[in-house]
Amino acid sequence: MPQPIDPRTTALFLDLDGTLIEFGDTPMAVRVPDSLRGLLARLAAGCAGALAVVTGRSLATLDGLLAPLVLPAAGLHGLERRDAAGRLQHAPPALRGALEPFVTRLAGFAANTPGLLVEDKGAALALHYRAVPAAAGAVAAFADELAAALPPELVLQRGHMVVEIRAAGADKGVAIAAFMDEAPFAGRRAVFVGDDRTDEHGFEFVNARGGLSVKVGDGATLARARLADPAAVRAWLARALDAATETTP
Ligand SMILES: [Mg+2]
Repeated sequence: MPQPIDPRTTALFLDLDGTLIEFGDTPMAVRVPDSLRGLLARLAAGCAGALAVVTGRSLATLDGLLAPLVLPAAGLHGLERRDAAGRLQHAPPALRGALEPFVTRLAGFAANTPGLLVEDKGAALALHYRAVPAAAGAVAAFADELAAALPPELVLQRGHMVVEIRAAGADKGVAIAAFMDEAPFAGRRAVFVGDDRTDEHGFEFVNARGGLSVKVGDGATLARARLADPAAVRAWLARALDAATETTP
């Protein structure tokens, strides 16, 4: 169990899938319970607004899942960002042109294996194999082929039951760093909780800043603390809130 955090001095960065909520069979088959919306709203208030969701999903999809809650957030692993004032930074439009040839390539590969799912996020493409774990080997080989064929502005990101093509240069560490330069995050202690390889960039950043990095689940990680699963994350966050409330005069 990681050390307790005090929301009043914390800048809290949270991944969504596999961290706050359990995975679904497909990306859209996840459920966000009302209790989680309530917890996030109370945490955001406890942190004086210094709470951001840092996810591989697009901001549009994230907002749909959390509605009516709208939080500061980084989407597409940092390619899109909405700061605490609500200002949006979008993915560069030129990126879509670079991605276009891979839309048909991924669709062609997925067509040969029932259960594979291509998710077009607009500025990133994901190939999900959660529904067909037996395809892991074939997907890994295909991912190697893709990686060799990518132009310099794109990178291949391997994740939990997913491979993704996204822009080079943007990652979750860069996104967290941008938040930490701005109010109300600046001056607080960065805490980042995530479960996947793409979250390692965020762990590296908060470690370098003397913050707290928390890995959810098994696997090698740079994170300094660990929680077992999303239920444990939600319980740990709820306790932080209780502690802050109890000690507030
Ligand atoms: Mg995740």
